[in-house]
Amino acid sequence: MKPPPSPAPTARPSARPSAHLTALAARSAPAWTPADWRRHPAAQQPDWPDAALLLRVRARLAATAPLVTPQEIMDLRRSLSRAAHAEAFVVQLGDCAETFDSPTFAGTAARVDQLHAAAREIGRALHRPAIPVGRIAGQYAKPRSSPTEQVGDMLLPSFRGHLVNDPAPDPLARVPDAMRLLRGHGHAREVLGLLRELAQSGMAVPDSLAVGAPAVWTSHEALLLDYEEPLVRRDPSGGDWWLTSTHLPWIGARTCDPDGAHVRFLEGVANPVGVKVGPSTEPGRLAELCARLDPDHQPGRLVLISRMGAEAVESVLPPLVEKVARLGHPVVWVCDAVHGNTYTSGTGHKTRHLDAVGAEIRGFFSAVRAAGGWPGGIHLEATPDEVTECVGGSPGVAEEELPLRYETACDPRLNGAQTAQAARLVAELCRE
Ligand code: PEP
Ligand code: MN
Repeated sequence: MKPPPSPAPTARPSARPSAHLTALAARSAPAWTPADWRRHPAAQQPDWPDAALLLRVRARLAATAPLVTPQEIMDLRRSLSRAAHAEAFVVQLGDCAETFDSPTFAGTAARVDQLHAAAREIGRALHRPAIPVGRIAGQYAKPRSSPTEQVGDMLLPSFRGHLVNDPAPDPLARVPDAMRLLRGHGHAREVLGLLRELAQSGMAVPDSLAVGAPAVWTSHEALLLDYEEPLVRRDPSGGDWWLTSTHLPWIGARTCDPDGAHVRFLEGVANPVGVKVGPSTEPGRLAELCARLDPDHQPGRLVLISRMGAEAVESVLPPLVEKVARLGHPVVWVCDAVHGNTYTSGTGHKTRHLDAVGAEIRGFFSAVRAAGGWPGGIHLEATPDEVTECVGGSPGVAEEELPLRYETACDPRLNGAQTAQAARLVAELCRE
């Protein structure tokens, strides 16, 4: 089943090619297949040392049952289309990197509670539904700026997330192991099982109409294409392709080349797709991305996740919002208020200050509103635990306190209190 085409927008963008030309292009372009990405440059893929093992793992993944269902994905698309029409707001929270430490019921329930509490507060302020989306049940792979990293006095291959290698400071532990793709799939299934049980137990209300739907929507960066490709399934009636690893896959800031493998891969699936949009993004390049990923101008298809940094957001974002609107892409603009505000503390920890996070949230709301758009969501790296990874807030975390409970597997997360403060700020801005 093809997602229903959007009703004809009231104002057709003049830059849009005519229906006739679009139909011609569709006829001459070869049909998309899940393996097409292989003909495009794929950034950030591990050097798997055992090609035969990788093939066996891919076959095993292809034989598994879907983790999420087309009906759930369609339900999320419908919710996101409301956000694209200024009738809902996305609340996307979770770990920078999930780990393979056993997911516990308590840990998963706490994440669901945190997400629902933030969504409830924002939804009440807005008098519209807030859509809870976790960075959860699959967020196991990380892009890295450098292939190596210094750990103490050792220069090691970078840790790329539990889906690829082990963080232990040992060169052997850092060798990519394709068996981890299967383990990661198993962990994702376990976490999804917990999310479904939480919904069924009545402890957390699902947002989907589908029977057995999870308590929150799942999302992760679709980074490792050898993992994602075997999890694409085709509608038995010969229709759409669905990425069944997660409801909302996103493309990261390091892999969003419009001609690259990740964009080609997600072009063909019917899921909603997120794209991180950084401060160096040219309006023309963003237009190309939108044309590739949202050729049919469908509300609920594209989620653009702005991650500009507090300093840049107000100058860089408005022309991008205007450009996308002029081209007639009914996207959801979401504010990732953490990734542009990372710095290294005096204690040597990668951290973020809650004041900068707050400044980026304010800047995002005013930039999107100035451009005539709808601030459609928030995206934060957050945990319900009382960790000391980000500074600021009240009761505050000082830089000297960072070593006390610095537990993240990758980027620093806002702790429970800091996340609640950020959600309160979003709610205040929604009331304006
Ligand atoms: C992330 O979301 O963890 C991440 C790596 O973000 P970005 O691609 O925006 O840098
Ligand atoms: Mn991160």
